Amino acid sequence: MDNPLLSAATLPAFDAIRPEHVEPAIAAVLAENRAAVERVLAAQAGGSAPTFEDLVLPLEELGDRLHRAWSPVSHLHAVANTPALREAYNACLPLLSRYQTEMAQNAALYRAFEQVAGSLDAGRHEGARALVDQALRDFRLAGVALPEARKERFMAVIEALTELQAKFEQNLLDAMAAWSHHETDAARLAGIPAHALEQAAAQAAAAGQPGWLFRLDQPTYVAVLTYAQDRELRALFHRAWATRASDQAPSPTAFDNSAAMAGILALRHEAAELVGFANFAEYSLATKMAKSVAEVRGFLDRLTSASLTAARAEFRDLEAFAGHPLAAWDVAFHAERLRLARYAISDEELRPYFPLPTVLDGLIGLVGRLFGLQLERDAGVATWHPEAAYFRVIDAGGKVVGGLYTDFYARPEKRSGAWMDDCISRKRLGGPLQLPVAHLVCNFAAPGASTPSLLSHDEVLTLFHEMGHALHHLLTRIDLPSVAGIHGVPWDAVELPSQFMEGFAWEPEILAMISGHWQSGATLPPATVERLRASRVFQGAMDMVRQLEFALFDLRIHAEYRPGADARILDILGEVREAVAVVPATAYDRFPHAFAHIFGGGYAAGYYSYKWAEVLSSDAYAAFEEGGVLDAGLARRFREEILEIGGSRDIAAAFRAFRGRDPDITALLRHSGITTAAVAETASGSP
Ligand SMILES: [Zn+2]
Repeated sequence: MDNPLLSAATLPAFDAIRPEHVEPAIAAVLAENRAAVERVLAAQAGGSAPTFEDLVLPLEELGDRLHRAWSPVSHLHAVANTPALREAYNACLPLLSRYQTEMAQNAALYRAFEQVAGSLDAGRHEGARALVDQALRDFRLAGVALPEARKERFMAVIEALTELQAKFEQNLLDAMAAWSHHETDAARLAGIPAHALEQAAAQAAAAGQPGWLFRLDQPTYVAVLTYAQDRELRALFHRAWATRASDQAPSPTAFDNSAAMAGILALRHEAAELVGFANFAEYSLATKMAKSVAEVRGFLDRLTSASLTAARAEFRDLEAFAGHPLAAWDVAFHAERLRLARYAISDEELRPYFPLPTVLDGLIGLVGRLFGLQLERDAGVATWHPEAAYFRVIDAGGKVVGGLYTDFYARPEKRSGAWMDDCISRKRLGGPLQLPVAHLVCNFAAPGASTPSLLSHDEVLTLFHEMGHALHHLLTRIDLPSVAGIHGVPWDAVELPSQFMEGFAWEPEILAMISGHWQSGATLPPATVERLRASRVFQGAMDMVRQLEFALFDLRIHAEYRPGADARILDILGEVREAVAVVPATAYDRFPHAFAHIFGGGYAAGYYSYKWAEVLSSDAYAAFEEGGVLDAGLARRFREEILEIGGSRDIAAAFRAFRGRDPDITALLRHSGITTAAVAETASGSP
């Protein structure tokens, strides 16, 4: 059959891909790739040491071939899901994971990379040294270099860990599903927004009950804690939320995560030791920009001492506004009232000024001013939905340098959230240049019958954020896909370009470019701009110390774990709170039992990355605040030193090349409203 997923055409044939194409295409590519890897290795067996050209370039080609076949599938799975496509997609997951494990565990491949590393002439391909170093590092982290018995144990530990992490997440889901609150007294629900009440009423009706039935999901919890006037009701929800999947929870003890958490820490520590690290925190940092536990700890401690006084002042200010001491379940409620009293700004007031077409035009204009790029709609390119669009990305010289697919509106068959994804990677491996293509996907409300899609300012930030990721992917000058664009960029630095772009969406001159009332065309009034800008830093210090609490807790439980001893999870949490928290904790609080970011996998010993990347992006953006928001020279340097280099270069060195010095926390503190002046003002200010 003529399979569009195996076509060598420039762009995926999104209008021709069918679920029945998926598994045959992936199976065929995997089989061809396996055979090709064997051929590459056989060609070197017994001969002279392999070179970068005859080992790495062919492997880059194979990786790209697989990516070109799989990327359209995973994209369609995310934006145009159907039961048949889901089934085809799921059928491929084990095939792909088996292939990846095989490659990661291929000792002959590892030895070949070691030989290449020894004789590498890195000058011929920019990024070659980084690519080989990263490949060797990943082989070692996967245990490929271990003696047989230890390797077997390592694999068993990883497998057990995967299961236990899944168990942690399952317990959390089950515990949340096991709790609900049935309410028949309308007076107790005063303040809760209509949409949350409608949902609760519908759930009660579906269960054949009168009144309202509330479940323990995040939107419901946030709605009750932020808006319910009834203090007892907020306390009830707080207790349910803060004890999820723990020994303190009202749900069955079968969902208690205590044992899973201890087991996860033990297995992570053992895996890290087997491959030569002192603890799991060091193992986690091996792939990050931060070099050591001490460096991350120092970073978090510096942010803490800079923020704590301001955070305490914000909390006192909030208590003064509320007129009584605040318990944990009072904070969000009074914070929302204080925010409204102080800034009187709401999404509903801002939306009419941000019709998506106007915001997008303004953003494209900004990208043009900064980087000399033009985005030109090409209606002739096939997409997966009439709402999706394709843009040619053209540089200042008129040359096409890449492509961008956009898909902005929420649809039932689309995954929620917003993201940028790599559709096609930049590649030049001796043959012709393959240009990068990105996906930019959001879930904004679709236009109404007579109104355009109107964005909140948060959604404007989201659009700028994802455009930053897209620019990182599209402007890369690196020709080796493994270290081009966002690939090979350490995880604690990959949000630098995206968060950097958000900075522009707070500037008066940019807000003038991207706003235009959908009826009158008027730009956002200057007084509203000022209120919006002032609201940016509301409780910035309290938010900061909350994130620092999570990050310090995560780092310490992984760095301080001692085999055979108690994991001290709650003790460490208590010590961290003692040092950084400003909101009083309750005795029943078992927040770690629901901390899926770290116990589920993902962010383990990496939660600090949020703040780490924010320091980089805030400090990089501050260069534009100092030198001019639209300064062409700065934009060129940012492009050359940060956006173009992909994972080819040490990010700390790249940052120094752009900024002329190491990253500094001052800009993030200022963007969070934490300055000496702000502290004094907040402390004395009355509502
Ligand atoms: Zn991002």
